[in-house]
Amino acid sequence: MGGNSLRLDPGVSKMTYVCAPCRRSFKHPRVAPHPAACPDCAVEAVLVSHKFKPPRRDNLRQWKKVALLLRAGFRFESVDGCYPRTLMDAREFIATRSPPSIQRAKQ
Ligand SMILES: [Zn+2]
Repeated sequence: MGGNSLRLDPGVSKMTYVCAPCRRSFKHPRVAPHPAACPDCAVEAVLVSHKFKPPRRDNLRQWKKVALLLRAGFRFESVDGCYPRTLMDAREFIATRSPPSIQRAKQ
């Protein structure tokens, strides 16, 4: 335990948030129950699993897919198999399964 570890307080873990309209993700300390606002548009961002890999900002199709999944309640947590790669796959994905319980955000 060094004396200089204030900023690494293990109680303050950085969570990954996504703002689909701005096509960006960002890290934010978990500040529950208050939601994190997007630094760009100040709209409430969506908390996602740390496994989420944001597409490139200019990849509109991929961001459409992300937005679709988020709207359907998926947070990129582990699911059976893998997440869909394309927008079309995503539609089928959403139609054929329900999101993992989001209420696991309790650790
Ligand atoms: Zn935004």
